This record gives sequence, C-alpha cells and structure tokens, in this order.
Amino acid sequence: MKKIFDDIYVGSNIISKLNDYTKDFDKILIFSNETIADLYFEKFKSTLNEKDKIFYFAIKDGEEYKNIESILPVYDFMLENNFSRKSLVISLGGGVICDMGGYISATYMRGIEFIQVPTSLLAQVDASVGGKVAINHPKCKNMIGSFKTPYRVIIDVEFLKTLPEREFKSGMGELLKHSFLTKDKTYLEYIENNVEKIKNLDNEVLENIVEQSIRIKKHYVDIDPFEKKERAFLNLGHTYAHALESFFDYKAYTHGEAVSKGVIFDLELSLLRGKIDTKYLEKAKNIFKLFDIDTNLIYLPGDKFIPLMRKDKKNSFNKIITIILDSEGHLFKTEVKEDEIIKIINKYRNNFLR
Ligand code: NAD
Ligand code: MG
Repeated sequence: MKKIFDDIYVGSNIISKLNDYTKDFDKILIFSNETIADLYFEKFKSTLNEKDKIFYFAIKDGEEYKNIESILPVYDFMLENNFSRKSLVISLGGGVICDMGGYISATYMRGIEFIQVPTSLLAQVDASVGGKVAINHPKCKNMIGSFKTPYRVIIDVEFLKTLPEREFKSGMGELLKHSFLTKDKTYLEYIENNVEKIKNLDNEVLENIVEQSIRIKKHYVDIDPFEKKERAFLNLGHTYAHALESFFDYKAYTHGEAVSKGVIFDLELSLLRGKIDTKYLEKAKNIFKLFDIDTNLIYLPGDKFIPLMRKDKKNSFNKIITIILDSEGHLFKTEVKEDEIIKIINKYRNNFLR
C-alpha cells in the first residue's frame, strides 16, 4: 500500500486499512448499492473491527437512482440509528455511490466526515478525488451538490477484478484523457508498454496507473479547487461527450466511451487550428485502440447536436467552450465555432451509429 497524498492511499487488498479510522467516529455507515453489497458486504463485515458501530445501507444500482428520492431513506436510517456529528459515511461503489455518499455527508447535520472507497476504475481515477459531490435533478445531471473533501480516499485495485469489462474500458477513457493533460511523456509510454498487464488486471501496474492518473487530476484540483481557470482543462473531451451522452439520453454510451470520442473531437479541433499535426492525432487514436476503445466520432445532424453542445456547464454568453492542446502539451480553453463543429463531424460522415 502506498500513501500517495496525506489523505489518499492506493494498494491491493487494503480494506483493513479502514480499521485505522473506526475509533475516530461513533457510528459508521457503509453506503453502497445492491450489486456491490452482494459482492462485498460480507467481506467488509468480516474485515472491519468494532462491528457494533458499523451499519450497512444499499440502494438500487444505477445512475437513475442518483437523486434525492434515494437519499431520503438514508437520512431516515441514520436518524433512526442516532448518527451524530461525530459519525462517518463510507461510500463503497462506483462514481454514482461516491458522489451520493459525499452528498449525504455534506448535508447530514450540516456536514459530517466521509471516506471514499471507489470500486470502479472511473471512480478510482476521477469521481473519488477532487471534492465534487452531487446528485442529479430531473432537468440536469449533477445539478444539486457541494464541494467537500473526503477525510480519506482508500483505493483498492483488487475491486477491479469484479468490474464488468465495459465499465473498465469506460474508466480507461478518463485515465487516458489524463495522459494528455501532462507534459511528462513517461506516463503514456508506461501505459503503452504495459497494455497486456493492464488488460489482465495486474495489480502492480494498475496501482501505478491509478496513482499517476490521480496525481494529474490532483494537480489541477489543487491549483484551482473551484474551477475558475485551470481545473477546466480536466474537461478535455467533455463538451462533445456531454452532448453525445445527452443526444442518446445517456443510454447508448458510458461516460468514458463518450469522453474518449470527445478527446478525439478536441484533438480534431486542435488539428484544424494547426496546433498539432495528423501524426499526433493518429497516435492518439491508436492509444485508445490499444484498449479496444472506439474513437470514431458519431455523425449527427448539426442542428440537433450543436444546441446540446451549447448546454455545457463551461459555456457562458452563449459561446461553446472546449479544450484544445498543442503537441508540447500546452492546454487552451477556447470557443469552438459552429462551422468548425460541422467540419469535424463531416469527417466522420460514414459513421452514423456506433
Ligand atoms: P457507476 O457508479 O454507475 O458504476 C458503473 C457500474 O459498475 C455500476 O453498475 C456499478 O454497480 C458497477 N460496479 C462498480 N464497481 C464494481 C465492482 N468492483 N464490481 C462489480 N461491479 C461494480 O458509474 P461510474 O462510471 O463508476 O461513475 C459514473 C458516475 O460518477 C456519474 O454519476 C458521474 O457523474 C460521476 N462522476 C463524478 C465525478 C466527480 O468529480 N465527482 C467525476 C467523474 C464522474
Ligand atoms: Mg468525466
């Protein structure tokens, strides 16, 4: 196990580390979903000490349950069991559970501590780090939330052994995105040299790539915690991705699949602006291909797609904002014009559906 920051640990088979913290709190809620509960609650029950102060609660599995209706029974449960200001929430799950567990801890009694135990690759490299916690509003994803830093983040790559392959690839999409946000080329080289080990879920290699990916994300979070400037670079690929996800009502693509395409959209724009050459773009596409991630953009009618790109949270004054980069790894926030979007999407005119 490695302490990569004061509050973030990465390792394999490290859930017993949670025993270091149980004495600091009077009650502990392990908050999860039914899928993860079936796989892991027994293991937690046998591993954790001070069993009488630990309570378990699982909601239904799915993004559609990331809402206030699912949270109200959790508050009920905590009140019935006398959870106090000295109690702790542990989120055990993917990004949905990490965001919701964080939201519960930010709001119960005006805020109690929480620990993130992310179980999906996407949550390990992204959702569990950075202090954004949220639930969805019927009109908009992640609309209701807060910034709250977890007490600890305990990342155990052993969880990835039970993660469905498609979800693993989704996490790889965000992880590879991070590799474009650093000028240090050694990270990408390490990934390229270890493709088989990553696919075979080699713990040591997984620990290394999760660590590096978090270091990149943390860099941007630490210099700009409330996303006034540089933190926006973490949104590489996301303006396109959000529009694609919402075009298909969040049913056709996982977030990481959409982000992978979105990174290529932003690189296509970087190419159009002369910041990178085609060789750079092709190399980038190949990196995703190594993990069987499809980076072909989807050819969609501009009059339907462009309004969705306009809805992105980064936008203001009705301009569509996205991120581009140059071959040395400098990043720029930029306005993308409608004719540029059309030009890029037209390159993929043979790709109607996935
Ligand atoms: P998810 O939480 O829905 O998990 C994906 C699926 O994998 C679920 O069915 C889940 O039950 C299952 N799963 C997770 N871990 C497993 C394991 N070890 N074994 C077996 N099955 C497992 O989705 P996600 O991709 O992890 O996260 C997406 C969510 O994260 C979105 O709601 C998004 O808004 C949020 N998010 C938040 C941030 C942030 O900064 N707060 C960043 C990125 C994403
Ligand atoms: Mg994302």
